[in-house]
Amino acid sequence: MKTGKALGLFTAFLVLAAMGAVSASAQSLDSPYGDPSVPWLRGNLHTHSTNSDGRQPPQAVIDDYAGRGYDFLMFSDHDKITDTAGLDAKGMVLIPGDEISAKGPHMLHVGAKERVEPDADRQVVIDKINGGAGGFAIMNHPNWQDSYNHCDLAVLQKLQGYAGMEIFNGVVLFLTGSEVATDKWDRVLSTGHRVWGFANDDSHDVPHRGIAWNMVQCATRNADDVVAAMKAGRFYASTGVKVDEIRTDGLTVTVKAANAQSFRVHTDFGRTLARIEGSEMKFTAVPDPKKCTYIRVECFGAGEAEAWLQPMFVKP
Ligand SMILES: [Zn+2]
Ligand SMILES: [Zn+2]
Repeated sequence: MKTGKALGLFTAFLVLAAMGAVSASAQSLDSPYGDPSVPWLRGNLHTHSTNSDGRQPPQAVIDDYAGRGYDFLMFSDHDKITDTAGLDAKGMVLIPGDEISAKGPHMLHVGAKERVEPDADRQVVIDKINGGAGGFAIMNHPNWQDSYNHCDLAVLQKLQGYAGMEIFNGVVLFLTGSEVATDKWDRVLSTGHRVWGFANDDSHDVPHRGIAWNMVQCATRNADDVVAAMKAGRFYASTGVKVDEIRTDGLTVTVKAANAQSFRVHTDFGRTLARIEGSEMKFTAVPDPKKCTYIRVECFGAGEAEAWLQPMFVKP
């Protein structure tokens, strides 16, 4: 009897230990980043030409971006898909799209298979994009203009189904308002939206080029695959910091960026969880269904160079 009781207690201990192990291993970060060996492609999705209010014709714009070492480029002329057939892509992937501008806050239609007519109700536009017009929608430069409020937070909260927002827009450096929109990004992320953060030039002329870009993990160089990778969040936004490695293991994220000098980890409503000096960081999230539903990492380099990683959602 004595041996049997001891065995029973030992079995109970094993079961409890196993349950503990299961619940611990079930918690992890839902990271969009994949196999670290997949190459990174550099590109800008927001580019104007003489087909709208840009200063140079499309071929001159392509020549400039190709000369800067870009891998992909999208023309985003206002309410017009620029036809790139017959142009020399100079080795870059050209992604079809436009900037839907009339009647409401500006947005990018990335990977457009067909043009979507601007509608004052931006939900109608988003639904058409998701419903067969191809690609995905990005809400643009939310903090542009004297109001610092080109796209109101209430609009960003109400709209459903847009894949991303511009958290950095280069041309706003030359205009009024703020080029950065991480304030709205964190509030949108904290209220149930899964939205990726993009950085774009919004170039209208040469001085606006090479300010902000997206680094996309994509094994192949064709437009459909680059668009699919961005829609899945396999990219980071940058104004100069180059990220070398992003790994997750359970609730821990490791980031290496040789030209970074420090990092910040943010969570719901922008709260800063950690400030880390150096060119490598490791952080373990502590889940809290009310206060830590995601984490995201910002990397700071020399001068104003920065990189923004995509949010990693805490799996319950
Ligand atoms: Zn715009
Ligand atoms: Zn624009």
